[in-house]
Amino acid sequence: LPEEFVKAQPIIDTIEAAGFEAYYVGGSVRDTLLGLPIHDVDIATSAYPQEVKSLFKRTVDTGIEHGTVMILDHGTGYETTTFRTESGYQDYRRPDSVQFVRSLKEDLNRRDFTINALALKTDGTIIDYFDGLDDLKAERIRAVGDPEKRFNEDALRMMRAVRFASQLNFVIDPATVTGIEHHGQLLTKIAVERIHVEFVKLLLGKWPAKGLDVFLQTGLYQYCPDFDQYRDQLSQLQHQLKTGMSSETAVWTLIASKLSLTGNQIDRLLKDWKSANQLISDTRTAVKAVRAIQAGSVDDWTLYQTGRQLLSVANEVAGQLGTTRYVTKELITAYENLSIHSKKELEIGGQDLMAAGIKPGPQLGQALDYIERQVVDGHLANQSSDLKAAAINYLNEKA
Ligand code: ATP
Ligand code: MG
Repeated sequence: LPEEFVKAQPIIDTIEAAGFEAYYVGGSVRDTLLGLPIHDVDIATSAYPQEVKSLFKRTVDTGIEHGTVMILDHGTGYETTTFRTESGYQDYRRPDSVQFVRSLKEDLNRRDFTINALALKTDGTIIDYFDGLDDLKAERIRAVGDPEKRFNEDALRMMRAVRFASQLNFVIDPATVTGIEHHGQLLTKIAVERIHVEFVKLLLGKWPAKGLDVFLQTGLYQYCPDFDQYRDQLSQLQHQLKTGMSSETAVWTLIASKLSLTGNQIDRLLKDWKSANQLISDTRTAVKAVRAIQAGSVDDWTLYQTGRQLLSVANEVAGQLGTTRYVTKELITAYENLSIHSKKELEIGGQDLMAAGIKPGPQLGQALDYIERQVVDGHLANQSSDLKAAAINYLNEKA
């Protein structure tokens, strides 16, 4: 077993010693069987949350009403969730209530896909009630039970299906695809933030074409914010993408570039997708750089405005869209060789200009912008007396 499981074994041992059952479940089991690295180890147990808490010194109630308690052990947190069933789902997302149960099988039965419904014992035994091992071998994503019912219960599972396809290079079982075709519209009931997370994971996955294929074929994309009018572009993307993107900013820069959005349209799209303001402004900046890269017109000012990190995002996106004119390393070097990297590095600031007799106000800002650009473009040395003279000259000519 991977060392993460070995490290977690004392936790399971403690729970078992108290007379309860405990297993590793979820993504870590699936990924181990696939030979992939694992991130977090999730534990499912027959012990009720209060029973779990009584067994360990340090716990955090991360989701105690759903049965989840985090056990802290030597700096690692283990999410431990009581076996449970769910019922209700009147809003197509959260169950109306969860019932804690003592049976592993019932717990695995509520999980989304068979490959996510495997349990692992500390001795390495796999518990597989729903033929998840067959599906892992066949590289197949298949809903546990009736897909129609499962997507009706929780519509987010449809997005999870396509993102797992992209992360794992798996096919989605035909009946599960049909379930998505039938229930796509229910996605509109799901919080956009949660759809956002899954969509980004889809494009970060190593085989995005695999997920995008079903995302488009089933019509699921139509129920994501603002995507309904962009079928052709999204479909072209599916065929263009050779591998996954490397960051969330790269994902949205790719989408906005591919959809040929203006700055304001990028704002609207990303707001509709409930994105953070930082992501929106980074995307706008990177999209401009993508266009400069595509046009072969990356000048010093573009380098300066884009910045190191977004230059690499932009060149990655341009590459995915078929432009390999620039080498990222060379762009970064050119950026590093700029005479300044922010206004703060100018040898003079507003105070100095005021001391030289320029009144505070908009023209002072304009003069600073002017010398900033002149320095970046290499027309002016970053040297205090030169900068002052140029600023005064600029304002005199304007007046
Ligand atoms: P990842 O590697 O992305 O963490 P994961 O399979 O561990 O993948 P999580 O979101 O961490 O996904 O969920 C852990 C487990 O909880 C899943 O493997 C699955 O068994 C179950 N699960 C998560 N979300 C749902 C859902 N919407 N419906 C049913 N079961 C779910
Ligand atoms: Mg997980």
